Amino acid sequence: FKVPVAVNEPVKTYAPGSPEREAVIAEYSKMYRSKVDVPLYINGKYVTTKNTKTMSPPHDHKHVVGTYHLADKNHVEDAIATALEARKSWSQMPWEHRAGIFLKAAELLAGPYRAKINAATMIAQSKTIHQAEIDSACELIDFLRFNVQFMTEIYHDQPQSTSDAWNRVEYRPLEGFTYAVTPFNFTAIAGNLPSCMALMGNVVIWKPSNHQVYSAKVIMDVFEEAGVPAGVINVVFGDAAMITDTLMASPDFSGLHYTGSTPVFQSLWKKIGNNIANYKTYPRIVGETGGKDFIVAHKTADARQVATAIVRGAFEFQGQKCSAASRGYIAKSIWSDVKKYVIEDLKTVKMGSPEDMSNFVTAVIHEGSFDKLASYIDQAKKDKNATIIAGGNYDKSKGYFIEPTVIETTDPKYSTMCTELFGPVMTIYVYEDKDFSKTLKLVDETSEYALTGAIIATDRYAIDEATKALQNSAGNFYINDKPTGAVVGQQPFGGARASGTNDKAGSLQNLLRWISPRLVKETF
Ligand code: GLU
Repeated sequence: FKVPVAVNEPVKTYAPGSPEREAVIAEYSKMYRSKVDVPLYINGKYVTTKNTKTMSPPHDHKHVVGTYHLADKNHVEDAIATALEARKSWSQMPWEHRAGIFLKAAELLAGPYRAKINAATMIAQSKTIHQAEIDSACELIDFLRFNVQFMTEIYHDQPQSTSDAWNRVEYRPLEGFTYAVTPFNFTAIAGNLPSCMALMGNVVIWKPSNHQVYSAKVIMDVFEEAGVPAGVINVVFGDAAMITDTLMASPDFSGLHYTGSTPVFQSLWKKIGNNIANYKTYPRIVGETGGKDFIVAHKTADARQVATAIVRGAFEFQGQKCSAASRGYIAKSIWSDVKKYVIEDLKTVKMGSPEDMSNFVTAVIHEGSFDKLASYIDQAKKDKNATIIAGGNYDKSKGYFIEPTVIETTDPKYSTMCTELFGPVMTIYVYEDKDFSKTLKLVDETSEYALTGAIIATDRYAIDEATKALQNSAGNFYINDKPTGAVVGQQPFGGARASGTNDKAGSLQNLLRWISPRLVKETF
């Protein structure tokens, strides 16, 4: 059986005067002025509750763009019951129909919903149009298309048979319901986690981040229009601990697909562990968590290339990608040039609302994040072993704006070299050229996380040495590039250590976690 060949959705440029730019500007202005109301979505119906919260753009936090509804325990229990009921038909649905639904969702996003999902991501998560386009349009479309291809590759994998015994594997969904917990920082991840489990025949309860509600609503609309049947994907917003406790208390809980912070993932794992004897089946646990991602530049690296990798890798989307570079190890002989280029580049980049498409950075997601980043910047201003060489200013009067900030430190274990900050702060340690090998060892030893990292060099021996020495320091390792921007179908994404279970998003391996195969042997 053949399915449409998965192709990556081309990234639109949004050049001035282009139809896509006009469309997204019109959508953004309309959505910015009107007030959206986002209910829960249970059993194919929008459910309003008595408990609501307002939503405001991080770049204009006094402006209200809508409200969303919070679930109480009864809603979560309804979601479980409805999912288990829906499972009876959905798990028996031939795969072609499941594939057809999600391929249609991809086409809806590529066409009629593109401006809307991009505008929602720009408003609610403060992404620039380029960052919204590569995430909520292209990457989500790619996940939907490629997952169908990976699914059929899995189904093709059948054991040997003999003339008197026919062996076949049925790729059954997990027994029970699954739980998707998604972050604010990628609309694509928010759409992928529930949909890839549903594609494999599972039923899902999805809790989006409270800071991503607007784009979650657009995804819900797309899934509904594409034909996801009632009860297959149910969406609940609200108190994360209550939602999680209610779901995990059910004996039918069968899988967690999580992207978010390391401490929360660990607490969820512990809850599952505490309940383990109560479940009908061992729940699958897949998580992508934090990162403290690095760029190592060898003395043979091109300084211009290193500076671009720093500016783009550390500051696109305000450094709020799990993959964002946040610590750099730069050889002394190239540092003065790298520094000069970074400072020059950062003088030209503009910060402000995503509505002005010439802005390169916008606001960080919320006040808690802003305050944390500001306090680390203030501390660096005081510390003798740290110097702020670019940025360092912040202002939350209108939006949560933090200037792209580069700290140079003489201590490779300085706090901002080790702590994940999840914002536009990059710390640089300059090493003596002769200490390259020692530095690689240091990078590995300080990699509590192991998500992404990059080596920039022209000397092939140096590239080889770094590739070997940093074998376990990053799940996605980039040679002569920034460590962000993995493309579905090209760079499967994920890391180990404190960064997650490394079940690569956008890969066949991830989908394998959402099935429970049954071997059927028929003897003649
Ligand atoms: N896949 C994204 C990238 O390569 C990062 C995803 C994340 O932040 O979780 O930049």
